[in-house]
Amino acid sequence: MSKLRLDKYLADMGVGTRQEVKALIRKGRVAVDGIMAKAPELKVDPDEAQVTVDGNSISYVKMEYWMLHKPAGVVSATEDRRDRTVLDLLSDAARKDLFPVGRLDKDTEGLLLITNDGALSHRLLSPKSHVSKVYEAVIDGKVTEEDRQAFAEGLDIGDDKPTLPAELTILETTEKEPGIFESRIRITICEGRFHQIKRMFEKVGKTVVYLKRLSMGSLELDPALPKGSARLLTQKEKAALG
Ligand code: URA
Repeated sequence: MSKLRLDKYLADMGVGTRQEVKALIRKGRVAVDGIMAKAPELKVDPDEAQVTVDGNSISYVKMEYWMLHKPAGVVSATEDRRDRTVLDLLSDAARKDLFPVGRLDKDTEGLLLITNDGALSHRLLSPKSHVSKVYEAVIDGKVTEEDRQAFAEGLDIGDDKPTLPAELTILETTEKEPGIFESRIRITICEGRFHQIKRMFEKVGKTVVYLKRLSMGSLELDPALPKGSARLLTQKEKAALG
């Protein structure tokens, strides 16, 4: 990686704002390779330099990739005036420029990739990429073979184009009370339209009462990851995303 200014290095790692880290440097609290640094503009090699603040080592992380098991009730945004955001759940992140790759509705749970890799995000979200997303859902009512066929053919949900074919699997239908049904389904879509799955079910006269994303492209929600928790992607997961 090419060299970067010491103040940028420290600000990228969340030590403080650019102004705050400049002040730390001027106060002599920052050392590079064991030597007190005095100039914020000092160029450091992030792969080689040993940078410390008050003796605590700060290593540089260029790209971070987190898998979050999003719970309901938090919003897929970097900041929000009212609600907690998905970034509030990443207490151990090094980078301060992370963002969620796409959005899940506030009441949707499941897999969310959080990174600062803009190129990867663009590739995964581009409508041309047709990245598959698999969800599990509970639907009010009895999901039928006709619904399955309609989803496979594509639905007009009021956008400029019908939806691309989606694969719908009916996992279980239960009768909660006499005449009142609920269906558990799995659905695979290759687009990311606003409220897409809810709108597709609305179109066939049904309501989504629970929605959880299980995968996005090659990335699958780790079944051992508790709801509300996040972990870094493994090398294998990262490589598979391309
Ligand atoms: N479809 C929806 O309706 N909501 C989501 O959060 C994701 C897909």
